[in-house]
Amino acid sequence: MGELTHLTGLTREELGRYVEGLGEPAYRGRQVFAALHRRRLRSFEEMTDLPKSFRARLAESATASTLKVESRYVASDGTRRYLMKTSDGLPVETVFIPEERRDTICFSSQSGCPLQCDFCLTAKLGLLRTLAAGEMVEQIIVALNDAYGVGAKTPRGTNLVAMGAGEPFLAFEPLMKALRVMADPDGLFIVPNRVTVSTAGVVPKIRELARVPDRPHLAISLAAPTDELRDRLMPINKRWPLEELLAACKEFEQSLRPGERFTFEYVMLDGVNDSDAHARQLANLLNRHQLRAKVNLIPHNPAEGLPYRPSPEERVQVFKAILESKGVRAFVRRPRGRDIYAACGQLAARTSVPAAADRPVQIQT
Ligand code: SAH
Repeated sequence: MGELTHLTGLTREELGRYVEGLGEPAYRGRQVFAALHRRRLRSFEEMTDLPKSFRARLAESATASTLKVESRYVASDGTRRYLMKTSDGLPVETVFIPEERRDTICFSSQSGCPLQCDFCLTAKLGLLRTLAAGEMVEQIIVALNDAYGVGAKTPRGTNLVAMGAGEPFLAFEPLMKALRVMADPDGLFIVPNRVTVSTAGVVPKIRELARVPDRPHLAISLAAPTDELRDRLMPINKRWPLEELLAACKEFEQSLRPGERFTFEYVMLDGVNDSDAHARQLANLLNRHQLRAKVNLIPHNPAEGLPYRPSPEERVQVFKAILESKGVRAFVRRPRGRDIYAACGQLAARTSVPAAADRPVQIQT
């Protein structure tokens, strides 16, 4: 028997054609699409409105889910981390972040990551593999089902961030496909306007995204205001240095429509990139390129094996004040889920968490 087709990664139209290829009428495709995405069912057996014979046909060549949830960790702030395995046994992590106004799901675009950012734990895994569109969509389905119940409507809609493991712009095709599938009004109905994609700075893809009409919001991880420091912290900078990166950012900014967001992220590392001089350099850099995007300051999330500490709170506030005094809008991001290795830069398929945090809970897959 060959590879099973993962139906969760198909658009409604593709699924229709697939089902017709099995000799079934097109409306069966729409039924399966609704079962997968609106009702969020993860097996054909649960799709009891479909004839048994059809479900058996489907199961011969296709599958409704490929990810297996291995464990789930709940942080003291309510953040949940899911550690899953692909069908070929690779780790995939997804984080559910409850928030006052709207909950956020942070998903992974790759298993591991090929970039070698020095402050990020995911880098230690190296690249295991880029995920398929269906594996991205399925992460959202798993998190939504766990948070709200299988098939239950999401109370206030959900925001998505492609800020988990991996570099989304090295997974550009499957990512854009996943976003198309998830935007379908007959399915999850999470439109690109609810999604933010973060990149370490893959310049050609920033330029490509600038030309995509229905696109997600963009965030750029900067971490340093000079090439010398950024080369050290984020080696991708050697390939696409700051001048090139910011020129692409400017091009992107010029393509923004009303209501579109574009942000920079700056991880604050104690004594490394957080001095007054760094703040001035950062403001000057953005001003020189006439970039009006806001800067999110992210206190470093420490982890064993990472040689950095978070900048002290007062330092972050002074840094922010310097940026603002030079006309750069800056915000401090509150870390979430640190105690279960669920925060930014902490996803490394950890199966143990510090004793203070909740024990992993096995859940039905
Ligand atoms: N590869 C993409 C997507 C990952 S997003 C990117 O680099 O943008 C992860 C975000 O968390 C990035 O902004 C990154 O700079 C930040 N980050 C990585 N490690 C971190 C850490 N240990 N503490 C805080 N933020 C971190």
